[in-house]
Amino acid sequence: MLQKQKIDWESLGFGIYPTRSMWKSTSNSNGQWDEGGLIPYGNIEISPAAGVLNYGQGIFEGMKAHHSSKDRVVLFRPDMNAKRISRSCKRLCMPEIPEDYFMNAILEVVRDNIDFVPPYKMGGLYIRPVVWGTAPTLGVAPASEYTFIIYAAPVGPYFKNGIKPLNLIASQSYHRAAPKGIGNAKAIGNYSSTLLPVKEAKASGFDEVLYLRADNEQLVEEVGSANIFMLKGNQLVTPRLTGSILDGVTRDSVLKLAQDKLGLTIKESDLLLKDLFKADEVFCTGTAVVITPVGCITYNKKPYKINDGNMGKVSSQIRKLLISIQLEEEEDTLDWIHLI
Ligand SMILES: *Cc1c(COP(=O)(O)O)cnc(C)c1O
Repeated sequence: MLQKQKIDWESLGFGIYPTRSMWKSTSNSNGQWDEGGLIPYGNIEISPAAGVLNYGQGIFEGMKAHHSSKDRVVLFRPDMNAKRISRSCKRLCMPEIPEDYFMNAILEVVRDNIDFVPPYKMGGLYIRPVVWGTAPTLGVAPASEYTFIIYAAPVGPYFKNGIKPLNLIASQSYHRAAPKGIGNAKAIGNYSSTLLPVKEAKASGFDEVLYLRADNEQLVEEVGSANIFMLKGNQLVTPRLTGSILDGVTRDSVLKLAQDKLGLTIKESDLLLKDLFKADEVFCTGTAVVITPVGCITYNKKPYKINDGNMGKVSSQIRKLLISIQLEEEEDTLDWIHLI
């Protein structure tokens, strides 16, 4: 039996719920990480001149640990996050994190906070690794010291009262990322730029913003912190990774499941906004949202309903399959599950 904290699991949302401990390690000026270790979860001290605070030299990751049907705690494809964090670090001129070092740190955090993992089917432990330039840097330059922290927080299921398809606005006022910029890194600056577009979208009654490509606004890119897919007939299409799109672990998993398990043809290519309007089904993917259907896209003040505003059959099939793999209800034939 896994011990559990006394938490009202039913009312957990997606927010910060303090846990017992977090990981912290520091790199020296040669980019070598020290041994690191767990410290109590809490505030840290930082110079006001830290690179991350002044120039946004910071990146993050997001993953979940689940209490599975086999009554144990598991991670989903953590090797993908390990590889991506180093790619993000490299782009932001920060020391890379060796894969085994990353994995060990993740395991330590989850093991020490295992009683904060929500019970089976009640959500997951959201794990947030961050890497920040923490040395003082007055001029624009890479910091001489970095901090790697992993904290975690229990979160409830994304949809509690049934799945509600998203109402998106395709933005004509804002782009998320520029070609040859940092869109393909999980860099903190990519998210501050979406705060105003999302605030404005919500004020107009939309759930989220669909971003178009900065160098060709006829093409679709992604949704702030989730990738986008379109089903037309037997073909599942998602925008190709051009450099300004984040390569989601869920995106990669959906492509593999669609092809190997559901017999769909998959295509990574340019995706025209006008083709999205005529799609049979549209959905978003990400660790936080898992798979979320899109019911309507508004462009130029005109709403385009997808599948009459309902979740499609294939979206629902892929969602079920992915979740049942993550919760070990389905056999892990692809070797995606990592035991804690
Ligand atoms: C994290 C993220 C995603 C989803 O990635 P997953 O690995 O599936 O969680 C998609 N787009 C952006 C911009 C993201 O930051």
